[in-house]
Amino acid sequence: MVLMYVRRGWSATVCAVLAVVLAGCTDPVGSNQGAVTHPGPITVVAAVYPLAYAAEQVGGGQVEVNTLATGGVEPHEQELTAKQVASVERADVVVYVPGLSAAVDAAVGQSSAKVVDALAAIGSHRRSGDPHLWLNPVRLAEVGDAIAEQLGIADPGHAKAFAAAAIALRSSLSQLDADIKNMTRTCDSRLVVTTHTAFGYFASRYNFRQVSILGADPEAEPSPAALARIVRLVRQNRITTLYGEAGHTSKALNAVAAETGTSVRLLQTMESPPRSLDYPAAMRETAATISAGQGCIAP
Ligand SMILES: [Zn+2]
Repeated sequence: MVLMYVRRGWSATVCAVLAVVLAGCTDPVGSNQGAVTHPGPITVVAAVYPLAYAAEQVGGGQVEVNTLATGGVEPHEQELTAKQVASVERADVVVYVPGLSAAVDAAVGQSSAKVVDALAAIGSHRRSGDPHLWLNPVRLAEVGDAIAEQLGIADPGHAKAFAAAAIALRSSLSQLDADIKNMTRTCDSRLVVTTHTAFGYFASRYNFRQVSILGADPEAEPSPAALARIVRLVRQNRITTLYGEAGHTSKALNAVAAETGTSVRLLQTMESPPRSLDYPAAMRETAATISAGQGCIAP
């Protein structure tokens, strides 16, 4: 009875979103009668918040999603508690980005869960050495399709609904992508100076060039020579704004800002869950912050 209620509520949401796209959504039990339905919620473990967001959008009321990177710790350095390792082992589906955290990679290797490898999901669009693919919404939509596929294997009775929800997610992420394009089309500067190289996917999608102070590792200490090079670059390019990261203070970034008289604005890498914002809202905030810092003309 409880399960029926959950299923009906979720179905109604998907139907509302897809009313135009899909016909025959009136049956609250779904149209896959005869296919095996997963008993109870499908447990999903996601490595970082944006992957959890995608899993929740695609899985609706059929999934219970836990995120490994809960904030406070850099996900690149993340160690897992025994409880988290067990949750990865027990999960029905795991969604992760290989190379983001060695501890997560190891736990996934030991797990018999169905695995969504986000890098595999985006195929030839992957950027080598850069795990932050969620900062391009179009790439996250591709991960959504891969999640729908694995959820459908875990719960064949709802496979069609997962596929439909992934289509709805893609459509909302395409709108987000179009909005960000508009906000960043015409700008004084296309050179973006960030703390660590989290914004490569964002930069390549929206036609910026990213230079980072710390490279790939947010815990790195840059050499004096590397700092001097960044200071020169900032001056030569008349950069007015450097980008720090919400929840992560970088002494090196602040030193470059003090040296060059530039201001620091904070961006959401979403490596920790964004405070009080969901994924699309945090992406819009990032776009607005970069638009302001780069002197972009509002549409
Ligand atoms: Zn990172």
